[in-house]
Amino acid sequence: MLIDLHTHSTASDGTDDPAGLVSAAAEAGVQALAITDHDTTAGWARAGRQAERCGVLLLPGAEVSCRVRGITVHLLSYLHDPQEPELAQTLATSRDIRFSRARTMAELLSRDFPVTWDDVLAQAAHGATVGRPHVADALVAAGVVADRDEAFAGLLADGSPYVVHHGAPHPVEAVQRVRAAGGVPVIAHALASARGKVVGEDVLEEMVAAGLAGVEVDHRDHTEADKAWLRAFARAHHLLTTGSSDYHGTGKQNRLAENTTSPESLQRVLAEGRGVDPVGTLRALP
Ligand code: AMP
Ligand code: ZN
Ligand code: FE
Ligand code: FE
Repeated sequence: MLIDLHTHSTASDGTDDPAGLVSAAAEAGVQALAITDHDTTAGWARAGRQAERCGVLLLPGAEVSCRVRGITVHLLSYLHDPQEPELAQTLATSRDIRFSRARTMAELLSRDFPVTWDDVLAQAAHGATVGRPHVADALVAAGVVADRDEAFAGLLADGSPYVVHHGAPHPVEAVQRVRAAGGVPVIAHALASARGKVVGEDVLEEMVAAGLAGVEVDHRDHTEADKAWLRAFARAHHLLTTGSSDYHGTGKQNRLAENTTSPESLQRVLAEGRGVDPVGTLRALP
């Protein structure tokens, strides 16, 4: 059974629109899919309509940006109520801050490269959560770099003088907000040190105490040692574990269902989610 619980669409920084994401997942044989755009639920309705057509079970979700002591944490939320005011406000604030931060990066880059803020805006769908990948796409369009990977390896890497980080809620606060909205909080790529500094066990334990439901274990940015550590941590704290692609369309190498989640973990997510129903049906196994 192919279950992929971490994917992005043009509602944030993926390259497939929400309906196209669901179609691509169906074509790849994915039976249960979560759409988890950064800090937005804007793709849910379009993805949901397509899931009903394609016979895919869709879990509406989001990837909530968090920050603690200068370290970025991404918290996946599944099945939260999109109308719950506090979580909705948290996501809206992050989108606003990301927008200003991308403009600052564009202004810094425009001093040295033929790229403007308008060029960056042209790369993001209307209302999308703006991120470094859109800045990367503007650099590609201007011929400064060949692709997103080259941008992330250089001009847009952490520590580059052109990169500005954005404020975001503490991960403990985010876990509480997701739970208060009926969602199921699962920390994404918690030990992916290739992406930047990662949090210590102390922060993870505080998140567990606040109601963390699970940890994403199988992710391409984790080493085998990272996965083993996270599996042991999950066992010790009775957390569910997931595996997922973190698919971004053509913007990243990650392929749909390159890592998958067990049916048991999916059942736990479905059982704990209270904010919104999943859409469509789980196709029976042949
Ligand atoms: P931001 O959230 O704006 O700081 O940008 C980080 C986002 O860019 C994350 O969602 C990553 O998945 C994405 N990202 C990181 N590395 C790459 C890459 N090499 N190519 C494309 N996207 C990337
Ligand atoms: Zn992304
Ligand atoms: Fe992430
Ligand atoms: Fe992601």
